[in-house]
Amino acid sequence: MLYYCPGCWQDFAFAIEACPQCGINVADFWGRKDLVEKLIHSLQHPEPSTPVRAAWLLSRIKDLRAVEPLIEVIKKTRDFYLAREALRALKQFATEEAQQFVESLRNHPVRMIQVEAMKSEKQQGPAYLPTLGTLTSQGEIDEPHY
Ligand SMILES: [Zn+2]
Repeated sequence: MLYYCPGCWQDFAFAIEACPQCGINVADFWGRKDLVEKLIHSLQHPEPSTPVRAAWLLSRIKDLRAVEPLIEVIKKTRDFYLAREALRALKQFATEEAQQFVESLRNHPVRMIQVEAMKSEKQQGPAYLPTLGTLTSQGEIDEPHY
């Protein structure tokens, strides 16, 4: 298992307290962030499954702070699977910013993004909107390994 510095994303074979590369204190860095902020930061994680999982969790939590970071991920990533997951997540947000951006992707050059943008997905819930507590107890949210 690799550990990652959340400041510069350098990986290490062992847990580090302070990053020898960029100098940040890892526990302190994460300690200052709430769950949503941690997930938003994890959208940049170099280990490919972590940002995908973060996007999915953000779509369940539906905290509006996630809208802009999800848009940024779609604009910047070269990983189309991540872009698609971020797009799926974004569709769960009923804000104008989110919806307009989703619409703009209907002309996206990459077919799988275009198709996902065209699909009108019914919003999840509100029949069952899990609270953070239930997500945690179901083990769906665990701290990613850093
Ligand atoms: Zn670092």
